[in-house]
Amino acid sequence: MEMLKAKIRDIPDFPQPGVLFKDITPLLGDAKAFGAAIELFRQRYGNRHVDYVVGVEARGLVIGAALANALGTGFIMVRKPGKLPAETLQATYQLEYGSDSLEIHLDAMTPGSQVVIVDDVLATGGTMTAVTELVATLKADIIEVAFLIELSFLNGRSQLKNHSLYSLIQY
Ligand code: IMP
Repeated sequence: MEMLKAKIRDIPDFPQPGVLFKDITPLLGDAKAFGAAIELFRQRYGNRHVDYVVGVEARGLVIGAALANALGTGFIMVRKPGKLPAETLQATYQLEYGSDSLEIHLDAMTPGSQVVIVDDVLATGGTMTAVTELVATLKADIIEVAFLIELSFLNGRSQLKNHSLYSLIQY
């Protein structure tokens, strides 16, 4: 875990003044660290029946796709509005800095699918709450919501009480 933490850097005042941004690009750029992070997730879900990994734009897509490949599951993208080409469901949410919407393809998965949802950072929990709503509307079963980083001091976990929640690294 310390090896992973060493590859995460703090960027002050990004994307807005007063925000201390956790930048995971050095971790993704390091073969050992990126591989170790995916391996830790793989160990957690490798013995479960998982149909799909769902990843959240943008960095959740990177981590989620790698995990889906490691688990041998399908991968489903949750994206910002206007990016997915077919018919979508949309959910709006509050972000640590502003508000936004997310979309998933209406036909992304069949009811009863077993899914793990992945994102890079849990901050206030607004983003992941919106994603769980999208996945629940499609009647899939959420095995767990998983994060590379949990910013514990923002208590996003309290918004996601109805779900099992896992994070590799906590600040
Ligand atoms: P939340 O909705 O407040 O939990 O914010 C989580 C979303 O914002 C995730 O999709 C993250 O990618 C992004 N985010 C918030 N804070 C950070 C950060 O410090 N580093 C990287 N991404 C962040």
